[in-house]
Amino acid sequence: MRKAYIAGNWKMNLTPSEGAEYAASLAKAVKESGVDCRVMIAPSFVALPAVVEAVKGSGITVAAQNMANHVSGAYTGEVSPLMLKDIGVNTVILGHSERRRYYGETDEIINSKVLLALSEGMEVVLCVGETLEERQGGKLEEVLSRQIKVGLAGVEASQMEKITIAYEPVWAIGTGMTATPEDADGAHAFIRSTVGSLYSDDIAKNLIIQYGGSVKAGNIKALMSKENVDGALVGGASLTLDAFLPIITYNN
Ligand code: PEP
Repeated sequence: MRKAYIAGNWKMNLTPSEGAEYAASLAKAVKESGVDCRVMIAPSFVALPAVVEAVKGSGITVAAQNMANHVSGAYTGEVSPLMLKDIGVNTVILGHSERRRYYGETDEIINSKVLLALSEGMEVVLCVGETLEERQGGKLEEVLSRQIKVGLAGVEASQMEKITIAYEPVWAIGTGMTATPEDADGAHAFIRSTVGSLYSDDIAKNLIIQYGGSVKAGNIKALMSKENVDGALVGGASLTLDAFLPIITYNN
């Protein structure tokens, strides 16, 4: 049985003090409303310590939005997994389409980060998804298959319990356009079968696959009703309690 897993990616929004204040109110609301899914939030690097402190004891997971593919050394501006773990952050989002598009992250770079995070015992949310041109060009499966095979190269079967995959069609991120629940379910089914052929049916069956792309209160229920949709990675609608709480309580 896969437990629903809903994550909020704050991107480059909310200062440490704004983030801590919001995280504290989210933690309180999560306790009071009896949320029964796993909740994760991913603030900016500088907000992480304050947010970790603010959600202590609430069960909310705090994740980084990215990390370096080296443990330490002369990598100006980068943040190591050791630094994240030292402040109590054990989960990281990798391969977000904005990292791929604006910062030149290739599948190979993302794979090196995935392997490093796993070797440090961290959990990973690996983002995959096609652009509009790729979808219109009939390349959806080719793109997803490559991103998964290269992104997970060298990952042992025993490490797969630390991997969540987020399917985020690039054309649906921040645009207000959402994949239909059927589109999302179809892509998730393909991702699940790809992971099944790389590993095993059992690993595929237990794999949590989140959908991301303009998720909001009005569409979460329909998305979550689909067999292969196990959660969501939410951007814009994760930035305020008013927008995020109805998403994480979709089932209440
Ligand atoms: C995201 O960035 O992961 C995302 C899905 O953004 P939005 O929900 O704003 O489309």
